[in-house]
Amino acid sequence: MTQFDEVAPKAGVDAANKFMVVSLNGVTVVALDDAKGFQLQDAKKLDISEITTKTYAKTLHAMHDQFAKWNLDGADQAKNYLASVHGQLSASRLLLVKGTAHGETAIQFASGKNSVKIRVAVVPPKQFNVAFKFVEVTNNAGDSKKTKWDKAKAQDFLNVLNWTFGPQANVSFNLADAAPLSVNVKDFPLKDSALTGQVFQNLIAGQKYKSADLTVFLVKDYISKDKKGMSEAFPDEMVCAVADDPPNVVLKGEDKFEVTFAHEVCHLLQDIQQPSEAATVTGHHSRDGILMSTGKESSRVDEALMRRINVP
Ligand SMILES: [Zn+2]
Repeated sequence: MTQFDEVAPKAGVDAANKFMVVSLNGVTVVALDDAKGFQLQDAKKLDISEITTKTYAKTLHAMHDQFAKWNLDGADQAKNYLASVHGQLSASRLLLVKGTAHGETAIQFASGKNSVKIRVAVVPPKQFNVAFKFVEVTNNAGDSKKTKWDKAKAQDFLNVLNWTFGPQANVSFNLADAAPLSVNVKDFPLKDSALTGQVFQNLIAGQKYKSADLTVFLVKDYISKDKKGMSEAFPDEMVCAVADDPPNVVLKGEDKFEVTFAHEVCHLLQDIQQPSEAATVTGHHSRDGILMSTGKESSRVDEALMRRINVP
């Protein structure tokens, strides 16, 4: 069947909804399957070129530029993506789509009476400074709990955020700071209980990195204020707490920690873009397999979620 498709998972093409996102003055690659003889009809606000073995070098340059804007050039995720594009060169028609004007548009290809279309949102880049605090809590009884992560993980964490939100929503992050943090939680019984949202909010959240847009606190274990979650976001403070081993329900092959980490940051991104809803809308939904789902979750951002974190 003639259709638009993604060249790699989670890279800006939501094939199920016939939708893709492109950065303003940046690029996204989309595959056009089974489309021999189909010609480009219409594509306002976009500059479209076919990727062939001859034009690949030029394409590679454009993709490297795009990954650099998302702070991903050289990251494993970007290398895997480029390998995937290269691997499909002879098998599919691949299109390099450049966004030249902000807003909604579509790409249409046709052959005779048959046509195929994908809707496109061209969105400007959004960038945030993020800080990571690697937390050790101690109490007056002499107990302590420390996250298993440390500063050496900061670049990996940054890559996870940039890969999740860069290609899929044109939102990227710079590292503002990554530092250990030790907090005395006084008489809180660390031996008997995971760190609670109440203690976190009272004693830890305020120790965020003040000049960052958002701060992620990595903690060994955690139970949210409503006792339902093992990680939690606090939009008022622009901080979140993420536990080392959150028991999130994820699609096979997905990393529970990485999905939970992206989930909490996604709460903050939604609240930045939808300030009037921050107090009333949870930001969760029931679309299985998509980030923020109350069912099985992954780090995939679909059209509806993308529209909440980078409004076209
Ligand atoms: Zn949530």
